[in-house]
Amino acid sequence: MVLYSPQQLYYDGRHQDAAVPNYFPVTNPSNATDLVIVHSASRADIDAAIKSAQNAFPLWSRTPPVQRARILLRAAELLRERNESFARVETHDTGKPFSETSTVDVLSGADVLEYYAGLVASGGLNGETARLRDDAWVYTTKEALGVCVGIGAWNYPIQIALWKSAPCLAAGNTMVYKPSEYTPLHGHLLASLYTEAGMPPGVFNVVHGAGDVGAYLTSHPTVAKVSFTGQVSTGQKVAASAAGRLKYVTMELGGKSPLIVLPDAGVEDAVNGAMMANFYSTGQVCTNGTRVFVPEDMKVEFQRVLLEKLRYVRMGDLMDPNTNFGPLVSKVHYDKVMGYIKHGIEVDGATLLYGGLDKPSVLKDMKNGFWIQPTVFTDCSDEMKIVKEEIFGPVMSILTYKTIDEVVERANNTPMGLAAGVFTRDINQAHAVTAKLQAGITWINTWGESPAEMSVGGWKMSGMGVENGRRGLEAWVRNKSTLVENGGSVASVFCKL
Ligand code: NDP
Repeated sequence: MVLYSPQQLYYDGRHQDAAVPNYFPVTNPSNATDLVIVHSASRADIDAAIKSAQNAFPLWSRTPPVQRARILLRAAELLRERNESFARVETHDTGKPFSETSTVDVLSGADVLEYYAGLVASGGLNGETARLRDDAWVYTTKEALGVCVGIGAWNYPIQIALWKSAPCLAAGNTMVYKPSEYTPLHGHLLASLYTEAGMPPGVFNVVHGAGDVGAYLTSHPTVAKVSFTGQVSTGQKVAASAAGRLKYVTMELGGKSPLIVLPDAGVEDAVNGAMMANFYSTGQVCTNGTRVFVPEDMKVEFQRVLLEKLRYVRMGDLMDPNTNFGPLVSKVHYDKVMGYIKHGIEVDGATLLYGGLDKPSVLKDMKNGFWIQPTVFTDCSDEMKIVKEEIFGPVMSILTYKTIDEVVERANNTPMGLAAGVFTRDINQAHAVTAKLQAGITWINTWGESPAEMSVGGWKMSGMGVENGRRGLEAWVRNKSTLVENGGSVASVFCKL
């Protein structure tokens, strides 16, 4: 059963058919039925969307920040009013339980809209003044970049769209946004909501399609900046393409993050943290702590508590508030994750403690969906493929260690550096270890929370730049420094012989 009407493109403040009829289907991950048909953008459509953003830029960038903020605040208010209906759409599109989408996805996006509206309305775009001497000073201004492109991944669709568009639009830029082809439904909801909130036509536009649409967007000469969320390998292509015209880029990429349980940690808390860091959103979270380092003499107890708590993973009807674990997003991704689990068993030789290749028993009419069991490997070692590569599914690897110096070194021994964290009762030790971890996001005695106030971004191959927080706004402006001389005469070495 197709649940939704065909999804069009959105530019010039309204829905638009694709110029050349070309459509792709989207599948409901929970039961593998068709969910919706989507108009795929041709180059002519993308050009039209970019033109729309270009036309809107002069007026929007000159609109006083406080007026832009009012529109963003109205949009946040509408999002909160529609949280449940938007969350239902996200659940259909992503396969994430409604208990998650209705409490995190839409609302954490609304938080970011409010944060940046407040920031720009209260002087967040102000520059600095420096007195040089009595008759000269320097002042700086922050100016919008122009037409920006946002490209999103499928794991937190509307949240990603809001985390990109909120600071972008608050700073006075306009945007053309491309959702992942696997989860496009939020695109028109958000674009229509912005228009309803009072955003002028062309300020926020949506084009649909696969990687070729993203590639054309990133190479487009009119585009000033690309903000990308996705895999490291795609990010490399996007950054290379953007580098051709020296565009500004923000790259939010993948990770293989270490979660370190220190010897004095409470086992119960550490297990709770490790489960949130591996099984929330069925493991499809970029910051997941999939390398779980446990002291050698804690391993048995840690695994005992973990096995006990795995009973609390509940699959089933995604709209049931009790369900806390959904399917993977697509068949392609299901095959990829299962391939890693098979490799872990057959080639890496890790011990399968829980889960594995068997399909979980779920409701009958969902047996064709992309359901998978939460999976735990133990007796893992650093060189195993399942320990080195991002799986992006509910697959935990337990590794043991002897000393803190050793675990810090092994935790950092990865080309990626998105997140890391420690569990301990010793707060001094927590700060000492955190200071040595090579990651852009670190947590102490918690995992996964990413509030609007917290700037987040990866080190090493996990990304460039940050999103959210005060520093997140800087990614959407360029600075101009002006030196003013009002001494009445121009200093010159060419005034006399
Ligand atoms: P992909 O890299 O496959 O795709 C991301 C987006 O890029 C999609 O919209 C995709 O289109 C598009 N795309 C594909 N090829 C190109 C190209 N050549 N040029 C421009 N755009 C292109 O990532 P996934 O969607 O699989 O997302 C999962 C990944 O995202 C994981 O690695 C995860 O860690 C990372 N991620 C990082 C986050 C962070 O904040 N650091 C947050 C969330 C996820 P389409 O899919 O339609 O083909």
